Amino acid sequence: MAKIKFPFTLGVASGEPAPDGVMLWTRLAPDPLNGGGMPASSFDVRWEVAEDDAFGRLTASGTARAQPAGAHSVHVKVAGLRPSSVYFYRFRVDGHTSRVGRTKTAPAAGSTAPVRIAVASCQRYEHGYFTALKHLAAEQPDVVLHLGDYIYEYGKPAAPAPGRYVRPLKDSTAACTTLNAYRERYALYRLDPDLQAAHAAAPWLTIPDDHEVVNNYQGKTGDVKRRRAAYQANYEHLPYRVKPGGDAMQFYRWRPFGKVADLLLADVRQYRTPGDMLGPAQTAWLLDRLATSAARWTVLAQPLFFAPRNPPSADAWDAFPASRAKILQAAPDDLVVLSGDVHNAWAGELDRGVEFVATAVSSAPPSVRDDALERNPHLRFFDGHRGYLVAHASMEEFTVDYRTVAYVDRPGAPVSTAASFRVVGNKLVRIDL
Ligand code: FE
Ligand code: CA
Repeated sequence: MAKIKFPFTLGVASGEPAPDGVMLWTRLAPDPLNGGGMPASSFDVRWEVAEDDAFGRLTASGTARAQPAGAHSVHVKVAGLRPSSVYFYRFRVDGHTSRVGRTKTAPAAGSTAPVRIAVASCQRYEHGYFTALKHLAAEQPDVVLHLGDYIYEYGKPAAPAPGRYVRPLKDSTAACTTLNAYRERYALYRLDPDLQAAHAAAPWLTIPDDHEVVNNYQGKTGDVKRRRAAYQANYEHLPYRVKPGGDAMQFYRWRPFGKVADLLLADVRQYRTPGDMLGPAQTAWLLDRLATSAARWTVLAQPLFFAPRNPPSADAWDAFPASRAKILQAAPDDLVVLSGDVHNAWAGELDRGVEFVATAVSSAPPSVRDDALERNPHLRFFDGHRGYLVAHASMEEFTVDYRTVAYVDRPGAPVSTAASFRVVGNKLVRIDL
């Protein structure tokens, strides 16, 4: 059989860190923007894990099968690793070797080791460069939380507004609706060197928002075939531990980081019905987790703006006050909510706890009223740049740095810290930089 061309064009990734292991990901795609370019047969891909990036001594290795039905993606569950430890990994097939990825296991259950969590969302390819992710990668956080809009499904705009069509999509103005179209959209994104670097730097935990399927998508209504294709392609390009089943995929989950932080990822799309943001099963799970979390910090990570906001948004928690109230009743007094979606950075105080809203990696922001903070005294911070945030959780404190880039319409923007906050109960205390 003819030798395949270099297949690791989309890089490598890791995710779902546990104290004893992680998930590893890659996909064989020699021609990623034209269907992948692989023969219609399965390939055994070798994976290697080591404690040093020269792979002098392997900690673990094996083979995983890349199959045509899964777009030749590979998901490897690695176990038997040590907690709170950095590992390096790579893949080999047919004489080719992938780039090397860096990952880190979660702390052991009893650990009091501090945790650094980077938070990103909303990376619209055609709106700009992913420079924020390049800076995020350089920080080598313990884990990256991606809170949705990992891709945008839109086609090429018929008449792009100035500054809103920085990087070209394919010529079609049609949005993604088929499995092949979603696959090619993920491939386009994963060819981006900054996104590849961020995946190669740390394990990720991702939760989709609407644009992984279609704008403002919610609940079980609408196009089932499209939703199934969207989740299949999402799964094929990220290091998930669970597979999609039928037309659904369980994204809500608990990821503990020792005694320091319980990360609770919530799905605000699939189970939504009028008046109920999360659906009964997920709500029962979340309320139980909130009430029984024994970690110093209980962190609710989900895509949408959580705090009340004047004027309210129809597609955020303001439209689901009963769902929000149930969560706050069950939560500890210093709950930390992490969110995204609105393409600007915000911080706010809740009845119980605080919220940190990460800005977009590249998606253009909506216009915001000059008096937004005056009209919302519980919202303590606004910043209108693109970027990400980094949370530092320890047994003593929880602090957040808002990182921003000055521009995304060309590469090379430096990063700076717009503001830093410390959580004290349900108050935000600004840290002087
Ligand atoms: Fe977005
Ligand atoms: Ca969104």
